[in-house]
Amino acid sequence: MKWQEYQEAVALFYEQLDSFGKVHRNVTIPDKVTGQRRQIDVLVEIEAYGHTIQIVVDAKFHAEKIDVKTVEEVIALANAVNASQAVIVAANGWTEPAAKKAEFANLTLRLLPLEDALDLLVPDKWAMCPNCHQDCIVLDMDGAVVIDGLINWWIAGKCRECKFGFIWCQECGDNLALPFNEEVTCYCGHLWCSKEEGLFVKFSRNEDLEE
Ligand SMILES: [Zn+2]
Ligand SMILES: [Zn+2]
Repeated sequence: MKWQEYQEAVALFYEQLDSFGKVHRNVTIPDKVTGQRRQIDVLVEIEAYGHTIQIVVDAKFHAEKIDVKTVEEVIALANAVNASQAVIVAANGWTEPAAKKAEFANLTLRLLPLEDALDLLVPDKWAMCPNCHQDCIVLDMDGAVVIDGLINWWIAGKCRECKFGFIWCQECGDNLALPFNEEVTCYCGHLWCSKEEGLFVKFSRNEDLEE
C-alpha cells in the first residue's frame, strides 16, 4: 500500500462514521500567522449550533510507532490553521510519551492498521499477502477455458505489492501459492506462473493461455 492510498483509506474511514460532517481530502488552508498555505491530509467539517468545527486529520503510514515529535508537528499544524481539533491516524501505533503528549494537547490518536485500511480501500481484497505482509491479494483473475469439450476454470489473483500469486484450480481442487516468476504445477499437471503481465497458464494438454 502506498501512503497516498493510506490517506484515502483514512478519508473513507471518516466518511463511513455516522453523524460525521463533510470530509475533504488533501486541502490547503492558509496559516493564520504567515498566510502560507498548509497541506491537510483530511479535513472534517462539522456544522454545529451555527458554527463550523474543523478537525485536522493527519494520516501516518509509518512502519514505526508515532513519536512525540510527530504529535507536536500535528498540534502545531492544527493550531496554525485554527482547527478546533487534531487527530492522528496511525498504521502502527505510537510510543508512550507520544500518547502522553497527545492527551495533554487534546489530540486524538487513532489506530487504523494496514489490514483495516485495505478493507476500506480494496473492495475485492481476499487476504493479506503471506509473502510480503505489506499488501493484500485480490482475486480478480478468474478464468475458464474449454479443452476437449471440458471446461477448465480457476479462481486466481495476486498481491498488489509483490505480485505473489494464488491459484485455486477447480479441476483438481488444488490451492497453490505462486511465488513471483516461479512455475508451479497443480495435481492435474497444469503449469501456473505469476508474471509481470499477469497469470500464465500452460495446460497439461499442451495448450497455452495467457490471462
Ligand atoms: Zn505481497
Ligand atoms: Zn489442477
